Amino acid sequence: MDNSAEIQNSSTKGVFINTYGCQMNVNDTERMFSLLEMLNYQSVPSPEQASLIIINSCSVREKPVHKVHSEVGRYRLLKEKNPALRIGVAGCVAQQEKKRLLKDIPVLDFVFGPDNIDQLPEIVGDLYKSEDSLMKAKFQHGEGYHVETMIRNPGVSTFVNITKGCDNFCSFCVVPFTRGRERSRPLTELIKDIQSLTKRGVREVTLLGQNVNSYKSDCGTNFGGLLRAVAEDTDVERIRYTTSHPKDFDQELVDISQQYRSKICDYIHLPVQSGNSEVLERMNRGYSREEYLDKVRMIKDTIPGVALSTDIIVGFPGETREQYEDTASLLEEVKYESIYAFKYSPRPFTKAARWPDQITDEEKSDRLNRLFELQKRISGELSQKYLGQVKEVLVENFDEKKGNNNGRTTENKLTHFPGRKDLVGQLIKVKITKALPTILHGEII
Ligand code: SF4
Repeated sequence: MDNSAEIQNSSTKGVFINTYGCQMNVNDTERMFSLLEMLNYQSVPSPEQASLIIINSCSVREKPVHKVHSEVGRYRLLKEKNPALRIGVAGCVAQQEKKRLLKDIPVLDFVFGPDNIDQLPEIVGDLYKSEDSLMKAKFQHGEGYHVETMIRNPGVSTFVNITKGCDNFCSFCVVPFTRGRERSRPLTELIKDIQSLTKRGVREVTLLGQNVNSYKSDCGTNFGGLLRAVAEDTDVERIRYTTSHPKDFDQELVDISQQYRSKICDYIHLPVQSGNSEVLERMNRGYSREEYLDKVRMIKDTIPGVALSTDIIVGFPGETREQYEDTASLLEEVKYESIYAFKYSPRPFTKAARWPDQITDEEKSDRLNRLFELQKRISGELSQKYLGQVKEVLVENFDEKKGNNNGRTTENKLTHFPGRKDLVGQLIKVKITKALPTILHGEII
């Protein structure tokens, strides 16, 4: 019996959610599934099997509105065959375009923003009461941020939202317009949340926010205090966090990371965006190249062996060849283990989108490719230091076909080694026998 027949024969209904974008969206989708499960919806692997379809959209990549239009267009035929089918758009494009989406795509039944996810059961209930389309895309201003992590099957490692929104208004970024002002979850609620995740088998948490370093609990605890509390007051064995903002990354935080090094991982993602101070100023990042490099020195001096990664935008409006070369030289200077680099593309509402001196796509592609080539060499060289070392790997899964376990070192290096299913969830000592730029291979000792 295939899955669709199973669903038709039971009282459950099928929901298909297609997720785009960042880890925040992945977490939001998981929350939607959990909320819909309470209404007897069950996740189905294809839109054809669903009575409810949600596109959880992202505004960060290219042509996001166009993508929503074309995806909903693909579902139009399904709706013609099944008029009871309901189609909605969530995420940043829903927040950004709201009424326009409903006006331009008549087949669409509802839109709701990232701040309205907890209203999903109410929205779905209302969908079947009338043929009118529904819109819930209001920021919940002035209220605290109280969410419990909702994950149907938490694995070994799980993301936990600690803040939402952002107050920084980098000139290229749409997040403050789609996710609203920054708010932090209360410390006590977070600790309770993480503790209940560890009881469900979670061994590692990644604390998640647009700018985790500006976390501020209702009781005044800052991000360093939160890290300390998670390390001391929960049973979680590994702690990671993302995303950091260099302007808010301070010595106290590095000292706490060093003090609780047995739990807080030796890996910091510190987005630089550009290696040129003038570009950084136009990006409204709040630091210069020199100030960023000072922070990198501070981190490396306090936590020897720490692995760093970063985000980079190439071809920001007005970026000259010389300014781009400063980004390339920063890579050589910092020596990141990995980078996430993108071509600049204009986003609605943002200042940079209105600037006239946009760089051609050809030039942006050339800069990006050269940066990737450079990073490949650096990652390859850095990786060699792991050869022969014994690393502690948190085992995330077991590949039955290959007989391999896969996991991560504290430096976030993906590591494969011949193993067993029962090792999943354990911290295992592995001797590294082969070091590729992005993957390590080893054997259990
Ligand atoms: S810090 Fe800047 S790039 Fe990051 S979410 Fe906020 S506005 Fe966007």
